[in-house]
Amino acid sequence: MTDAPMFSRLALIGFGLIGGSIARAARAQGLVGEIVATARSAATRSRVQELGIVDRVVESNAEAVKDADLVILCIPVGACGAATEEIAASLKPGAIVSDVGSVKAAVVRAMAEHLPANVHFVPAHPVAGTEDSGPDSGFAELFINRWCILTPPDGTDADAVEKLAAFWRAIGANVEVMTPEHHDLVLAVTSHLPHLIAYTIVSTADELEDVTRSEVLKFSAGGFRDFTRIAASDPTMWRDVFLNNKDAVLEMLGEFQEDLSKLTRAIRRGDGETLFDHFTRTRAIRRGIVEIGQDDAAPDFGRKQPQLAKKA
Ligand code: NAP
Repeated sequence: MTDAPMFSRLALIGFGLIGGSIARAARAQGLVGEIVATARSAATRSRVQELGIVDRVVESNAEAVKDADLVILCIPVGACGAATEEIAASLKPGAIVSDVGSVKAAVVRAMAEHLPANVHFVPAHPVAGTEDSGPDSGFAELFINRWCILTPPDGTDADAVEKLAAFWRAIGANVEVMTPEHHDLVLAVTSHLPHLIAYTIVSTADELEDVTRSEVLKFSAGGFRDFTRIAASDPTMWRDVFLNNKDAVLEMLGEFQEDLSKLTRAIRRGDGETLFDHFTRTRAIRRGIVEIGQDDAAPDFGRKQPQLAKKA
């Protein structure tokens, strides 16, 4: 006899890297009785049908959430408010409504204003990804040993928070709870700023006149290559991240510019001691990340080695 699934029906709105990975992982672990999915375009819906990972593909967001006890929005953060407005009247009382957006405060506000009082709103952000997108890009192991941050509004039912936390743990993630504002500040420095720097440096290299594009590609192993991987991330997703986490990103960008000015000055003055001290400190940070198991030979991007054991 098998255990009852954690949720009878999971509704996924959006089926790209994150929605597709949740579906595959939840299926592999037997966590849900039925998965109903939808996506914006007919082309994606038809591809999801062909993949055969979910039980039903439907045409509208409202149809997808009917009778679902867990609803997860897996769409760009800028689209979450409108999608919540569409599903609000069709949600099952007592359902848990969540998302996976990389920004929290703005998204939580945009979603909360449409949600009825009889559902539990537990926003989430799995801090895991690759530079790929679309229905074929997901894989069941994406969340293993990565953090999923939950940002429930004050007064959210503790059982609902714990139930969603248990779902994320069951698909391999570690779970932490924090406020949306703190999430946005932390992610501004650990994710949003690095992406902005990668987007900048790749276009800077592309626009140089004295170094040809073929030289940039040929000698990319000198450091540039790692930036190009990050800078290949989905343009829609990242446009929405910067539009929706403006204040925290600008704050971190200010700090970054100050540090860059210090290093620029040290280089101009030939101040080797400042450079050496700075690089020694940053090396220690890198070693700390490796020690807590948040990096391996193939960090996040293209990381397909870990295995998610199938539930007995
Ligand atoms: P993705 O692979 O591009 O998939 C996005 C999905 O959203 C697709 O099904 C797409 O439908 C749908 N969609 C796009 N624009 C829409 C709109 N305006 N209205 C309704 N649906 C729309 O994206 P993803 O990487 O899974 O990202 C989804 C969410 O996860 C984002 O909020 C992102 O911030 C968050 N996230 C991403 C990562 C990452 O590394 N990628 C990591 C953590 C969290 P069509 O295919 O029909 O266009």
